[in-house]
Amino acid sequence: MNSTARKQLVYTVKDRCRVCYTCVRECPVKAIRINNGQAEVMNERCIACGNCVRVCSQGAKIYLDATGEAEALLASDYRVAACIAPSFPAEFTEMDDYTLLVGMIRQLGFDYVVEVGFGADMISLEYNKLFDNPEMPPLITSDCPSVVYYIEHYHPDLVPSLAPVASPMVATTRIIRREYGPDVRVVFIGPCIAKKAESTEVNVVLTYAELRKLFFEHSIVPDINQTACFDPPLAGKGAVYPVSRGMLQTVNNSDNIFNGNVVVAEGTENYKEAIREYECGSLKHHLELLSCEGCIMGPGMSKSSQKYARRSKISAYARKKLDQSQYQDWQKNVRKFAALDFTEQFFPRDRRLPLPTKEEIDGILFRMGKTRPEDHLNCGACGYPSCSEHAIAIIEGLAESEMCLPYTIEKLHNSVQELNLSNEKLATTRQALKQSEKLASMGQLSAGIAHELNNPLGVITMYANILLEESDPEDPGRKDLELIVEQTNRCKNIVGGLLNFARKNQIRKTETNMETFCRKSLQSVIIPSTVTVNFQSQMRNSMAMVDQDQLMQVLTNLEKNAVEAMPGGGILTMRVSDTPDEIRIAVSDTGTGISPENLEKVFTPFFTTKEVGKGTGLGLPLVYGIVKMHKGKITVESNTNPSKGLPGTCFRITIPRN
Ligand code: ADP
Ligand code: MG
Repeated sequence: MNSTARKQLVYTVKDRCRVCYTCVRECPVKAIRINNGQAEVMNERCIACGNCVRVCSQGAKIYLDATGEAEALLASDYRVAACIAPSFPAEFTEMDDYTLLVGMIRQLGFDYVVEVGFGADMISLEYNKLFDNPEMPPLITSDCPSVVYYIEHYHPDLVPSLAPVASPMVATTRIIRREYGPDVRVVFIGPCIAKKAESTEVNVVLTYAELRKLFFEHSIVPDINQTACFDPPLAGKGAVYPVSRGMLQTVNNSDNIFNGNVVVAEGTENYKEAIREYECGSLKHHLELLSCEGCIMGPGMSKSSQKYARRSKISAYARKKLDQSQYQDWQKNVRKFAALDFTEQFFPRDRRLPLPTKEEIDGILFRMGKTRPEDHLNCGACGYPSCSEHAIAIIEGLAESEMCLPYTIEKLHNSVQELNLSNEKLATTRQALKQSEKLASMGQLSAGIAHELNNPLGVITMYANILLEESDPEDPGRKDLELIVEQTNRCKNIVGGLLNFARKNQIRKTETNMETFCRKSLQSVIIPSTVTVNFQSQMRNSMAMVDQDQLMQVLTNLEKNAVEAMPGGGILTMRVSDTPDEIRIAVSDTGTGISPENLEKVFTPFFTTKEVGKGTGLGLPLVYGIVKMHKGKITVESNTNPSKGLPGTCFRITIPRN
């Protein structure tokens, strides 16, 4: 057997893979790596047992298709023999008469159709000799290629214990070449994927599913006019070989069974356990090991399950054969080929991965939030039986942390929370942006109007003043002139306010003690006796660079609004604090509050809820403009609903220290 450069037998169809980790769970040798959320078969680790092909509900695991190679051989000048595994009655259950099947195979162009059952007979005799020898140390059967790969790769020390006997497939190939000539090309047809790389002596290996594909492509159907018999040598008891314990029955060594010196283990978990016990010396029997539950359950069978129906088909076929009194012919053939070499050699090909240290494993578990024993849920959702084995696989580069369901769910929860937070932030920012966009366009408009009005206002003021100066103090028109000057000055103030809001003004910063400055601002406003003033400072460093004149306007405007919002009295609080980079000022009152629908309008020029003559709606736009000129921020919070707490309003200003 040569598996040094074994070709890749099993693949993942990436588009079909839904990453459910079933294949990871079912793979007996950790040959499936999850990389960027995709499952891939690692050829160097794979033992081609076909478990993943069998369990993948999405059909995302496929095996090497050799129908093209078979067709090429059939089209060549070589004579080609089909050797068909003894499990065929379990596959072709629709044909009670096997001559129909042989006829169909011949129609494909095969020159010979030979039963592997005879090869099974011959190697069973070889095993008979070995098992009958009381001197023989316990052996492991070597006819299941998956088991052989498993031992070569993962228990290389046990390779010398593999029985040095060829498989029935290789034995039959040697028999065919002896019988029909050394240049005959051999195509094996059976239920096994692993056989595709078992031996270089066999030219092509097809599964039953592939044979059916060829029949379909060539429109070959069972036809009673095209029946044919197997070419000699015909099988004897080897016909029962593919059911579990089949070899024992073929060997027909009742002593062995009764003495119990052969242990049969089939299915991955069972044969792995048998090997473990054999390796540690607690099991001192010969081992007959099969990767599947008998070859009749091989992954190359085209239909699923029905194990017992398949077994009965095999026994029925074998019984028929035994009834056909071919015994003498069979014995003749056994003698004829007895001298043929049925030996096989095996070599260790260690594919074991070094075991990580405890620290490495703990490190990975820690990263996945598994710090305490109770964090190890060992739920198996990742495809590994325990959290520790998953961690080992991560270190070996076979798995990813995201395969851990509890860990991924936790991560998902955190992401959802973060997303919610950023959503909220985004909504607030969007709101603020809308507001500042609105204010910016108002600013542009105001700046335009203010600019246009400024010049004619100047002319009016100038001429009104000249007229006033030149007029006689007794002139009855003088009162009108004084009114014109007064009202024009008012207009100029409004225009000035608009220009401030539109940030047309420049700022002149000087170093200021903000605590003293804010305290002083409270003295510039007339505060009725019904209002209590409360000044709180948490300043560590009071010094900042601000435009004092303008900032005074900001504070007095906020204070005036607060007082006006508390006609029945209340508390006006000013809090000042700082960070290394910023000064924070909050002006709050216990007044009427601002209704939610008005809250976003308060910075809009000319928005006022006060009666005509009392409010202009230019105070807060001015405040806003000045704060922006200082590269600061202003926010407002207000409550008008007494059931939600004390009504009142709080304006918060943050301005950079420099
Ligand atoms: P004005 O004071 O001339 O009305 P402002 O721009 O200063 O213009 O204020 C606009 C509006 O914002 C006010 O009319 C009032 O409705 C509301 N407002 C401002 N500050 C407060 C406050 N502290 N409490 C209640 N409402 C306020
Ligand atoms: Mg005001």
